[in-house]
Amino acid sequence: METVIFKFGTRDLFTKEYCSQVKSAENITTYLHANAVEVETDEAARVVNRLQVACLQGNRFSVSARLFILALGGIETPRLLLLSRQRQSTGLGNQHDLVGRFFMEHLHFWSGIYLPPRPDFFRSTALYNTIHTVQQVPIIGKLALTEPVLRREKLLSQNVQLIPSLMSNTFLYPPLPSQDPVSVVRNAYRRVRRVTGRLLNRQGIRVFQLANMTEQIPNPNSRVTLSHEQDRLGQNRVQLDWQITPLDIRSAIRTQEIMGEELQRAGLGRLYIQLRDETPPPGLHGGYHHMGTTRMHNDPKQGVVDADSRVHGTANLYVAGPSVFPTGGYANPVLTIVALALRLADHVKMRMKEGA
Ligand SMILES: Cc1cc2nc3c(=O)[nH]c(=O)nc-3n(C[C@H](O)[C@H](O)[C@H](O)COP(=O)(O)OP(=O)(O)OC[C@H]3O[C@@H](n4cnc5c(N)ncnc54)[C@H](O)[C@@H]3O)c2cc1C
Repeated sequence: METVIFKFGTRDLFTKEYCSQVKSAENITTYLHANAVEVETDEAARVVNRLQVACLQGNRFSVSARLFILALGGIETPRLLLLSRQRQSTGLGNQHDLVGRFFMEHLHFWSGIYLPPRPDFFRSTALYNTIHTVQQVPIIGKLALTEPVLRREKLLSQNVQLIPSLMSNTFLYPPLPSQDPVSVVRNAYRRVRRVTGRLLNRQGIRVFQLANMTEQIPNPNSRVTLSHEQDRLGQNRVQLDWQITPLDIRSAIRTQEIMGEELQRAGLGRLYIQLRDETPPPGLHGGYHHMGTTRMHNDPKQGVVDADSRVHGTANLYVAGPSVFPTGGYANPVLTIVALALRLADHVKMRMKEGA
């Protein structure tokens, strides 16, 4: 187990500083409230010629360019490819039925309770409790398993945030699921302990609740498709079938078991796992991190874009954004999105120099 540091950037960089740079750049023209509705190609669906654009007020126009980059987010990017079916009836770049598949999120849920060995333990956990600013960068510490352990155990990656809380002691005596006579007696005893504990210790116990953020297995059945409903521009809306597999939850349970063993071995208290089986726990939600729907792979049968982020089978159509992630990891996606965008920008510069 290791401590991982999460760094947070300031939103102003994207909403103010970069906006004004884009506004003042002489070689950028920005059209707002303009919706790309179709990517048009030559007959072989190889070279993109134009992007059709429609506005809600009714005007329509097209944009021609030598290279095109779609950066519409993890849901709208596959939607536009699926909608661009003039030359390929199943959608542009969808010759292997991959566009929109492998939709992944980061699963957020409460996974357990960590009871430290002593109350004064909380004095030494400030790194994990709140966000600190170090050299003007907001940071917080979280717990994760090391890469060798993940590989050995074949686990999905995840991190755990420690949230200090006051809790009733009921988590120490959870009911046993079994109905055999011994369990019935033990359950009666546990019920008494829960009730007396609640009465005698009204203030609760100081613990950490464990907030999980976990990777999902890339699953082709978790997907974005077009619905029959249409929007105001006459375009098919998207429908999302986001699937969470038992493997996603099983991986979280095993991670908790390993973390619990590590804490106990080091004399740092006990971890009470609250994931009972492989069904998604109540309250599980995503993080608005929409990934995987135009995944990157060198083989066109396994990915929509190649290692340069170019849509397989096309000469001049690229994708930027989290839809190209082949796996989700546990980290918030923006840093990786920006890194891949810079990498793509270098590639585009090179192609433009070559006279693309
Ligand atoms: C509330 C919230 C909090 C978040 N917090 C974090 C965080 O702390 N850290 C982190 O890493 N990530 C965070 N995320 C996720 C992060 O915002 C996204 O992963 C990221 O913005 C995706 O970037 P993108 O450029 O691919 O897509 P987007 O930022 O979604 O940009 C796509 C753009 O394309 C436009 N568009 C879509 N379709 C069309 C079309 N047909 N024609 C023209 N334009 C179109 C959209 O209007 C949008 O402006 C958060 C998301 C939300 C919603």
